[in-house]
Amino acid sequence: MYHTPVGRFAPSPSGRMHLGNIFSALAAWLSVRSQNGRMVLRIEDLDPRCCDPKRAQQIIDDLRWLGLDWDEGPIYQHDRLDLYREATAELHTDGLTYPCFCTRAELHAASAPHASDGTPVYAGTCRNLTAQQIEERQRVRPAALRLRVPDADDPAGTISFVDRVYGTQTETLARDCGDFLIQRSDGVYAYQLVVVVDDAEMSVTEVARGRDLLSSVPRQMYLQRLLGFAQPAYAHVPMLIAPDGRRLSKREHDCDMGELKRAFDTPERLLGRLAGAAGIAPDSAPRSAEQLIDIFSWDAIAAHHADIVIDGTFFE
Ligand code: GLU
Repeated sequence: MYHTPVGRFAPSPSGRMHLGNIFSALAAWLSVRSQNGRMVLRIEDLDPRCCDPKRAQQIIDDLRWLGLDWDEGPIYQHDRLDLYREATAELHTDGLTYPCFCTRAELHAASAPHASDGTPVYAGTCRNLTAQQIEERQRVRPAALRLRVPDADDPAGTISFVDRVYGTQTETLARDCGDFLIQRSDGVYAYQLVVVVDDAEMSVTEVARGRDLLSSVPRQMYLQRLLGFAQPAYAHVPMLIAPDGRRLSKREHDCDMGELKRAFDTPERLLGRLAGAAGIAPDSAPRSAEQLIDIFSWDAIAAHHADIVIDGTFFE
């Protein structure tokens, strides 16, 4: 049976979109539009540190200016807490979660091995607390909630997938991330949980986003299996970096939309230059998003999958 491809934009309103976000959004949109699929816009605004409605509106306006449209949304995660609560309850009922009282300082202890995304691999400190220990600790500080992952020698905890750009990836959860957070101690549901619940509930069939999230896929696939959800296809796009090797970031206002609109004036000039730098188009001639649909292919992005350096020549 043929299912309409469904992709999504999933911006966090933590700042103005920058060139890296535009690249991810463009790739996600081109992939879906080149298959006559549907696009969903979901605003990932659960973290109170980045839930400013004005920033969300600015992202919406910037996507429109770029000509990247969507068929459903904007859907705001803050309206969907019941769904996340239900999924958490299901995992809890299955005995897969436990409260964790570790402080940030304890988690980031120098001795902790680190996962490829820089987060410490959880040592399992709170995995086997007794009911009495839990009660005592609860009086001192609120607990976060973690998901138990299978032991390293259990094949269920080794997860492989094929990324459209980066190829076959394999991770053993116990070794590469450990039991991971599904709810923070301030009550905010963790990214890994909500993204899985939302992608499934929105019938997303393909996830395209920045390479910084490549190592999240095994955690997300593990959650999909536990919750009985289908698995979308994954494609991660290369990072755009400054000449000193630093990643462009929203917080540092690197190449943000304000600056880019001033420098390029029209969406065609900006998207044409980006498509040329990323290998989507054979040159940097001005092109609208619409005009890129026919020349888009994941193979072309995969052929250029090294990080892309954005220096002054990008703006010339
Ligand atoms: N909200 C994330 C971001 O803005 C993207 C999450 C995802 O695509 O899974 O970086």
